[in-house]
Amino acid sequence: METRNLIGGHWCLAQDNRTFPVHDAATGEVLAQVPDCDVADARDAIDAASAALDGWRSRHAPEREAILRSIAARLRERKREFAQIITAENGKPLDESAGEVEYSADYFDSAADEAIRLGTEVIRSRRADRSLRAIPEPIGVVAAITPWNFPLAMIARKTAPALAVGCTQVVKPAESTPLTALAFARLLIEIDLPPGVVNIITGAPDAIGSTWLSDGRVRKLSFTGSTAVGRHLMRSAADQVVRLSLELGGHAPFVVFADADVSAAIAGALTGKFRVSGQTCVCPNRFIVEAPVYDEFVAGLASLASELRVGCGRDEGVRIGPLIDDRAIERVRSQITDAVAKGASIVTGGKSVAVAGCLDRFFAPTILANATREMLCFQEETFGPVAPVARFTGEAEAIEFANATPFGLAGYVYSRDEERIERMVRSMNCGIVGTNTGIISDAYAPFGGRGWSGFGREGGRWGLEEYTSWKYVCSAVTT
Ligand code: NAD
Repeated sequence: METRNLIGGHWCLAQDNRTFPVHDAATGEVLAQVPDCDVADARDAIDAASAALDGWRSRHAPEREAILRSIAARLRERKREFAQIITAENGKPLDESAGEVEYSADYFDSAADEAIRLGTEVIRSRRADRSLRAIPEPIGVVAAITPWNFPLAMIARKTAPALAVGCTQVVKPAESTPLTALAFARLLIEIDLPPGVVNIITGAPDAIGSTWLSDGRVRKLSFTGSTAVGRHLMRSAADQVVRLSLELGGHAPFVVFADADVSAAIAGALTGKFRVSGQTCVCPNRFIVEAPVYDEFVAGLASLASELRVGCGRDEGVRIGPLIDDRAIERVRSQITDAVAKGASIVTGGKSVAVAGCLDRFFAPTILANATREMLCFQEETFGPVAPVARFTGEAEAIEFANATPFGLAGYVYSRDEERIERMVRSMNCGIVGTNTGIISDAYAPFGGRGWSGFGREGGRWGLEEYTSWKYVCSAVTT
């Protein structure tokens, strides 16, 4: 297991040799110590990325494409090994971790496809005395700060397009899941990525983030994480006018109309809600179900949810692993207590589950009936295995209910009426809509949010755009 940081192609420790422990998410056992980097290390990472920039940006696109393809291939070859690391430090079931590795590889393939498409565009002018071009140039050195819920995919989404365009990168993973990032660093060395093109350091978030944002050489930050930290980074980015992509919290509505295939809606709700124990930014957070099918939906979802096996992600058949930390368990408990005090009823779950030899971080999949907007769970992102279900009547109320939030990442709608589906797609104020499906992520599509869920898109050609600075050239034409 790699525990050192990667700067300029060298494996390093923190300059002051400080480390911090990484724990197994299920058992709490210390898996490793990793460098606790600070300002000086963060600056070294920028030095290395700056030194590598000219060489990398001047490579021909097909060379960058080939490197991206070999990263994708290597990730797929080593899927099992990466999955085991993800499950150890994040806690999610092994097959979900393996799915995350595939999904990450897709980002590299998608960026490889786009790397060779990106090129100078000729622009038609109404004037005959000039010719116009737009040249895509890499922004320069870019930074990535990533969360723990997809320790590999959130890096892949940022590294793949950055490399495709010709940027060099400094990366800081979350404190609870640095080992996946360092395993990825090792893979980059194995495929002979030139030194300094990607630099990965672990350690003090504020010191590293503020060093990168104040340096002036870092021209862009792509951040995925909470809205609170995103706001803080946005303020810090102002001084050096650093370009931003912010993939922040979600609060997704999941709307089921009476004309929907209710069994399909229940199946979609189950997969969408309980992936990573409910800790994904696109998890349905507010279930809004039309009155005639309300009881059927609640009973069906509760029945399937109660059968999901809770346990250590390494164990066969487990669908619900631990939550990431004690605060997460507290948040889930307090949302349930608040909902019950305000009239909700617990149909299934509602309590912790003891798992032998493990921490007290496991929570039963929970369905709350009779949820209302006054409840905390309808106002805040839960990030846990709790599905509150409210009733509505009619399309106008569904739209109003779905949009009653400043967040705007994902939304889901189930109906058999195609015209209604299209009206809902247009009315829902969010960046991503799933229609008659609970799983929406795809590396070839523009993933991203609106409002408090942030801005910027990751995936496909939209992902590359975030790392591109277009240079417009206007040339006189003499006849
Ligand atoms: P977080 O904001 O606490 O941490 C995210 C990252 O930011 C970590 O690497 C952390 O070390 C770093 N960080 C924290 N404080 C910092 C600071 N002051 N300066 C610089 N970096 C700092 O979020 P989290 O708890 O790790 O992740 C969960 C959140 O991420 C949820 O809100 C979830 O919805 C969101 N998320 C969003 C998306 C998306 O695409 N929109 C995807 C995954 C997760």
